[in-house]
Amino acid sequence: MNTGDISKKPLRILVADDDESLRSVLKQVLSMDGYEVTLTASGEEALAAFKKEPFPLIITDIRMGNMSGITLLQEVKRLSPDTQVIIITSNATLDTAISAIQAGAYDYLAKPFDDIALISSVARRTVEKIRLIEENKSLLEKLKRKNEELEFINMTLKELTIRDGLTGLYNHRHFQETLAAEILRSKRYPTTFSLVFLDVDYFKQYNDTHGHLHGDAVLVALSKLLISGIRQSDIAVRYGGEEFVLLLPETSKVKAFVLAGSIREKIAAHPFPGRETQPQGKVTVSMGIAAFPEDGSDSSTLLHHADEALYQAKNGGRNRVC
Ligand code: GH3
Ligand code: MG
Ligand code: MG
Repeated sequence: MNTGDISKKPLRILVADDDESLRSVLKQVLSMDGYEVTLTASGEEALAAFKKEPFPLIITDIRMGNMSGITLLQEVKRLSPDTQVIIITSNATLDTAISAIQAGAYDYLAKPFDDIALISSVARRTVEKIRLIEENKSLLEKLKRKNEELEFINMTLKELTIRDGLTGLYNHRHFQETLAAEILRSKRYPTTFSLVFLDVDYFKQYNDTHGHLHGDAVLVALSKLLISGIRQSDIAVRYGGEEFVLLLPETSKVKAFVLAGSIREKIAAHPFPGRETQPQGKVTVSMGIAAFPEDGSDSSTLLHHADEALYQAKNGGRNRVC
C-alpha cells in the first residue's frame, strides 16, 4: 500500500481527535499504510506537538474541547503554510467541512467512518499533494542554482572578452569603447580626463638577455604596479605588446603628471629580476600624457597627442613623463 514516502523515511502524520476510538482507528489504518502516526486528544495538545516538530500532514477533528479543528488549522497554516490539513467532520456538518476547505484544509473525512479505505485514499491524495509541493520546491531551488551558475559563467565570459590574457588588464578593444564613452560623458558635463601612454624602455634588450618568458613576468609585475598606483575609477589597459594606457576620469593634465611621475618612480625602484642588465641598471618606462579637451576632443586626436608625447619622452632620454 501507500508508503507516504518522500525522503525514504515514513511520512509523519499528526492526528487530533477527542474521541479515543476514532483515534485508534486512524492509528491502525494509517500505520498499516506505512505512515508514522502521532495521536493527540485536543487542539492544544496537537499544536504543542506541532510546535515541537512540524508535521507535513495533520488530520484533525473539527469539534474538540476548547480549540476547534479550524483554529488548529489556521494556527498551523500560519506557522507552516505547506503543511496539509484534513478535517474530520460528521455527516451532519458538511457545511462546516466546506468552510474548513475554504479556510485552507486540503480535504475532509466524514465520520463515522463507514469505509476505512476512504481514510487511506484521502491520506494518499494529500500525501501526493505534499510530495508535489516538495518536488516543485526542489525543482525551483535547482533552477535558481542553475541560473546563478549561468549568471556567473556569463560574467566570467564577459570579463574574458574585455581582459588581456597575460596581465588581466583591460584589452585594446575595451579601451576604445571606454574612451569613446568617456569622451561623450566629459563633453556632456563638461569635465576633463587624461590619458597616459606608457612604454617599457629597452624591452627588446630585456627579452634578448633573459628570454621572452621572463619578459612576460616583467609585464605582469608591471601591470600590478599600475593597478596599485591608480584609483578604482581609473582604467589600466594593455594597449599592445609592452605598451599600456591609463585612462583617468575627472583628472586634469597637471594631476595626471603627478600620478604618472609617481608610477614612473615606483617602476624604476621595483626590483624586477634581471633588471641590472638594462641600460640604466633598472626597468624603466616612458610616458606621454594627453588631456581632454585641451589636447583634443576626439579619440584619434587624443591618442595621437599622447603618442607624440611618449615619443618625446623616448627621445628625451627615456624614464620620463612628457
Ligand atoms: P624602447 O625603449 O624604444 O621602447 O625600446 P624597446 O626595445 O622597448 O622597443 P621595441 O619596440 O624595439 O621592442 C619592443 C619589444 O617588446 C619587442 C618585443 O619582443 C617585446 N614584446 C612585445 N610584446 C611582448 C610580450 O607580450 N611579451 C614579451 N616578453 N615581450 C614582448
Ligand atoms: Mg613599444
Ligand atoms: Mg619599448
